[in-house]
Parts: sequence; C-alpha cells; structure tokens
Amino acid sequence: MAENGTTENGQPLKKMPPLPHPIKNLEVKYTKIFINNEWHESMSGKKFATYNPATEEKICDVEEGGKADIDKAVRVATTAAFQRGSPWRQMDASGRGKLIQKLADLLERDRVTIATLETMDTGKPFLQAFFIDMEGCIRTLRYYAGWADKIQGKTIPVDDSVLCFTKHEPMGVCGSIIPWNFPLMMLVWKIAPALCCGNTVVLKPAEQTPLTALYIGALIKEAGFPPGVVNIIPGYGPTAGAAIARHMDIDKVAFTGSTEVGKLIKEASSKSNLKRVTLELGGKNPFIVFADADMDLAVELAHQGAFFNQGQCCTAASRIFVEESIYDEFVKRSVDIAKKRVIGDPFDFKTEHGPQIDQKQFNKIMELIESGKKEGAKLECGGSALKDRGLFIHPTVMSEVTDNMRIAKEEIFGPVQLIMKFKNQEEVIRRANNTEYGLTAAVFTKSLDRALALSSALQSGTVWVNCYNALHAQAPFGGFKMSGHGRELGEYALAEYTEVKTVTINISPKKH
Ligand code: NAP
Ligand code: MG
Repeated sequence: MAENGTTENGQPLKKMPPLPHPIKNLEVKYTKIFINNEWHESMSGKKFATYNPATEEKICDVEEGGKADIDKAVRVATTAAFQRGSPWRQMDASGRGKLIQKLADLLERDRVTIATLETMDTGKPFLQAFFIDMEGCIRTLRYYAGWADKIQGKTIPVDDSVLCFTKHEPMGVCGSIIPWNFPLMMLVWKIAPALCCGNTVVLKPAEQTPLTALYIGALIKEAGFPPGVVNIIPGYGPTAGAAIARHMDIDKVAFTGSTEVGKLIKEASSKSNLKRVTLELGGKNPFIVFADADMDLAVELAHQGAFFNQGQCCTAASRIFVEESIYDEFVKRSVDIAKKRVIGDPFDFKTEHGPQIDQKQFNKIMELIESGKKEGAKLECGGSALKDRGLFIHPTVMSEVTDNMRIAKEEIFGPVQLIMKFKNQEEVIRRANNTEYGLTAAVFTKSLDRALALSSALQSGTVWVNCYNALHAQAPFGGFKMSGHGRELGEYALAEYTEVKTVTINISPKKH
C-alpha cells in the first residue's frame, strides 16, 4: 500500500508499477436495482443514502430493495435463467468460462473507475483498492473461468451389468449476502465459483457499500451474460437479506459477515427449504512470534495484519502472542511503526490508513478500547479519534493484554493491535486455540520443526508461516469452529456450488 505498495500477500512490491490516478468528481451512474440485465426502481418506491466515510458526505441515493424485489429477482433467476432449455443452461461449459474471462477483461479496462468508486464508498486507500482488491478480483475471475469446462464427474466401478457415473450439476439459484469491508472482493468470491458451475445468482451488497456491486452489474450485462443470470439488489439485511435467507426458491446461500447474523441465516434455512448454507464469520486470529523469528519481518507483518483495511478484516491479526524474551523489543518496534502509519485522505497516495466504515463501527471500536484500558491493558499509542475528522481512529497498540479481557476475546474490527506474552510452545498452542473462532493463524519462527508442529496443532482453516494475508484464488479459505462453514476459493469451493448426481444404468437387462 501507499507509495511502497504491497503485493496481494502483504509483502512489499519489488518494483512499483506506474501509479494510476483516481478519477476526480466521478459521477455515479448505477444506483438502481439490477434484475434481468435491466435497471429497476424498488417496488416500495424507497431509496437509501450511501455515504463517503472519509468526508461523511452523502454520495447519492440508491434504490432500496426489499422482499418484493428479491421475489422478482428470484423469479427471473429461476425461470428465465435456470430453466431447462434457457440460453444459460444450453451454453457450452467453455462458453461460461469465456464470459467470466470477458468480465475479468472489463474489470481490467475499468480498474481505475471501479477502484475510485470503492474508495469513495468504503474510505479504503485508493492504492489498496487498485492494487490489492482489484487484483484479487481479476485473478479470482480468471481462475474460475478456467474451471468452467473442467468440472467433471467420475465413473464408478460396480459390476459388469451396470454403468454408474456421477455428474456435478449446478445447484440452482444461489443467494449471496456480503459485507462492507471488501465489497468487490466478496462479490467476486461469491459470483465467480457460482457462475463457473452454471448457477444463477441473487446478491445483496452491504447497505454501506452498494456502489461497486451495481457497477459490476453493468459489466455483467456488457460481458454478455444472459438476462437473469446475475441479479443485484441493494437493500438492508433484515429485509432484503432475510428474504434471501428464507426464500423457498433459493437453493443455496453464501454469507460473509458477523457470527450473529450467520446464525440467523442458518436458522432461516432450517425454517424454510433447508437451502445449502456456507458461512464466513470472522475470527480472533492468533499471530505467534517465537524468539528465533526474523524480527523485522514479524514486526512488519504483525503491523500490516492488525491495521490493513483499518483493521476491518476477518483475517485481522487480532491476538499477537510474542515470546517473553523478545516481548519488550517487539512492543517498542510495533509502537514505532504504528505511530508512523500515515492517516488521511484515502485518495492521497501517501495515505495508508483511512476512516472506519460508519459511526456504529467507530463507537464499537472506541468502546472496546475503553474496556481494554479498564481491564488493565496498557495503551501504548493511539486510542483516540482524529480531532478534526469524524471516523478516523489513530492506529492503536495495547500491551500487557491477557486472555480473559474482552478485547482478547471479541472481534474488534478496528485498528487495534493487541500484544500478549507467552513462555513456551505448549502454552501458546493452548491459548491460541482457546477461542470460539478458527479462521486463520500465523507462526513466525526459523525452526522448521516448530513451524510444522504448530501448523498441525492450530485449530484454524488457514495457517501462515512467516507470511500474512497470503490469500490466493487457487487456495481454499474458510473457518474451523464458529468462523464458518464450507470453503471459498480454490477447487474446494466448486463443491459448495454443485450437487452430485449419481446415475446408474442397467446395461444387462436380463439380470435386473
Ligand atoms: P452484518 O450485520 O453481519 O452484515 C453482513 C451482511 O449481512 C450485510 O449485507 C447485512 O446487511 C446482512 N444482514 C444483516 N442482518 C441480516 C439478516 N437478519 N438477514 C440477512 N442478512 C442480514 O455485519 P455488520 O453489522 O455490518 O458488522 C458487525 C460485525 O460483524 C463487525 O464488527 C465484525 O465483527 C463482523 N463482520 C465480519 C465480516 C467478515 O468479513 N467476516 C465482515 C463485516 C462484519 P446490511 O446491509 O443491512 O448491513
Ligand atoms: Mg458508503
């Protein structure tokens, strides 16, 4: 990020590509509901405002979808798009891949516009939106475009009288409910595998960040996807989101967000049609630094891990365990770089750190920082808001944090780095696993034995060794325990978007 830039996995870029320039006073073109490749007003006539968190000014009004709009979208996604004989169902599997590649090309073409829009709506630094979020989206689309014509079943050996084989068929209409921290990337993580497997999609972006999703709607039409294949309905969770979760004609729902709402999604599935559910629900991720680690690397990546995207990451390095003998040095160095992190206008190329998404999240973070102080953690730096700007919080480092404090247990989703001390390997494994979450974990050490022992002992869907936020389109991502169900990305995600059908054919009629 900022002038130095980082790659997708948080490592510094070796050579900086030419800097793109955000578009000044970008006009927002798409604010309506996208159904059947057309733009619709909401059935209720309602609209809602979306704001720029950096200025707290309103950007524009967007049509507010509700249950009736979700019903309308599901009707076209089911009938026009998914029924037998529809252009989408008849399309050659490679044709689906071509369309997804075309969508990736259009994202490349409009990369500056989309990154500008993402920064306006989320407040994240423009260079991050351009180099990291957009890059992740384009690579994920291209990766799944390649899968479209390679999703194969198997022939199963039974006996000579029978031909038995499996087909991996699309599930049908896939609902997607996504959060505001990575609006573009979460949209692509949902639609790319869904489309390559031949499904149709009804997606609700987060209420705070609807704009890039709607822009992608226009690109979906331009790419040539048949009408009704992808439908995007901005709106609120308890109305539009809940209508997706309990819809009788939606076959699967993929959700990213809070554990609390994740539970509601499962409940709604049970109470309606038992639709398939995949959930990605955040974490309280341990980042473990042994005394033999490369200190410069560990300090830098712990900093990036805690503060990247203003700490609004399900993968945030939110419990940093440091071995006793290097603890003081680690805290001192972490404080030094946290104080240097550049906060400000997200469109300024020097800016590494923007505002929190909204007042509700800001208040939650400040309340948790106060609770940490009250429970005995030491505030090393930060802990306050910028004086003249609403939603900006100084990068905050807290030391002397213990496991029973609220800040060590709850997801803060803000720029707060918590540093804890440990004495030995067995103790840190036990403490790292002592959480209801299990999304990611990281280990910093030069010992191969230790790295392997910890990667096996840590209860999380991802373990990073001497790296952080190393996400790749081809590698699965998801949680153990209450961090979620199912996997996104990689080949594993295909199983979440297909049904396996077993076909058994009697080829020896006399015997049967
Ligand atoms: P959230 O409520 O879980 O929001 C995620 C998505 O779910 C949004 O699109 C939201 O709609 C929708 N939603 C809300 N209530 C719903 C319902 N009853 N039925 C169906 N969909 C519903 O998260 P939040 O309130 O924005 O953030 C709260 C906390 O969640 C954060 O502090 C953080 O700890 C966690 N979080 C985690 C992630 C992650 O990446 N895992 C992302 C965001 C937040 P709206 O448009 O109305 O919000
Ligand atoms: Mg906004």
